[in-house]
Amino acid sequence: MEQIWNVIVIGGGQAGLASGYHLKKRGLSFLILEAGEDAAGAWPQYYESLKLFSPAAYSSLPGLPITSQGKHYPNRDEVIHYLKKYAVHFELPLVYRSRVEKVSKESDYFRVETSTGKTYFARNLISATGSYSRPFTPLIDKQDEFKGSIIHSATYSTPTPFHNQSVIVVGRGNSAVQIAMELSEVAETTLAVREPVALIPQRLLGQDIHFWFKLTGIDSFWKFGKSFANGSSVLDLDGYKQKLKAGNPKQKKMFTAFYDRGVIWSDGTQEEVQTVIFATGYRSNVSYIDALGGLDGQGEPEQKNGISKIIPGLYFVGLSGQRSFASATLRGVGPDAEYVVKHIQNNLEKQNNLH
Ligand code: FAD
Repeated sequence: MEQIWNVIVIGGGQAGLASGYHLKKRGLSFLILEAGEDAAGAWPQYYESLKLFSPAAYSSLPGLPITSQGKHYPNRDEVIHYLKKYAVHFELPLVYRSRVEKVSKESDYFRVETSTGKTYFARNLISATGSYSRPFTPLIDKQDEFKGSIIHSATYSTPTPFHNQSVIVVGRGNSAVQIAMELSEVAETTLAVREPVALIPQRLLGQDIHFWFKLTGIDSFWKFGKSFANGSSVLDLDGYKQKLKAGNPKQKKMFTAFYDRGVIWSDGTQEEVQTVIFATGYRSNVSYIDALGGLDGQGEPEQKNGISKIIPGLYFVGLSGQRSFASATLRGVGPDAEYVVKHIQNNLEKQNNLH
């Protein structure tokens, strides 16, 4: 019989790494199965100009700061470098190029089948494959008639291909606003929104807003931070307020339909556009646990605080809003991983006492 691990972690991005850190600290036996070739998670796929919305002091995984310059706002490539370094620094047992395809349960352990043909067995599973792997695009009336280009922000990389175009960015979250701001330098840009963009200042009384989030405990209280987590409040980076006030980018109530050359706004006027970018969020992708059950009608996990409500031994780390509004961020994923790993350890200890 193959080894039965205490835990198998599925996904070796920041959520998998933070889980690995806490599992190692508590001396549990585990492996991290990662589909890709490194520990950078989805960060290499995010747009080039991405700058973290929190400064370095509030952007680290447990045990190793991203940089000693706490006030610096790291960019995408610094995060990629950091995550790879983190995996090596803590000697985390990552198995790369191992996509988990199916999980099933056999008596009191999980059977985990991977793309390499190898099968693993574990008493507990942590699913850490990210909240942002299934781009979500709403269906708008007559979308199929539009002859221009429609993309999701997941495939947006730089403003260069959109020079001198007329572009609409749909959404009012951090990605929508950040993309619209940089596009507005090179293209005629409009943000299409259901409600006006709500900005919160990056700095308050001389401190970054994350200092106040931490001090007031908002970081840990889901209900207070909900509007930030669900993207209805956006950090005012680089003078966004002034730019919106000056009408570059423009902000308009969401259009109601497409026509062949553009969109039809809610007042009935038509506008010609070349590209529409949907920055309308993501869903998680945990289809590999379909066979276990434990997912709701939308394919999202039925869980509370990262613990499956349906399947004993099944856990999640890195889900958006899992325990607090910071759950799916670099600074928030560590405490969630610790919570889940503690729960696993307690259960393992109880089981050992029973045997
Ligand atoms: P991911 O990074 O998606 O990693 C999941 C890993 O699982 C991947 O490596 C993938 O290859 C692997 N995987 C997937 N399926 C399988 C499988 N079946 N088997 C094995 N492996 C699998 N957070 C911040 O803290 N600050 C920010 O400024 C910030 N900006 C963001 C901007 C954008 C555009 C987005 C989308 C998110 C941003 N986030 C930010 C949120 C969050 O920190 C990132 O999304 C981060 O990548 C989430 O890490 P993760 O490990 O949960 O998931």
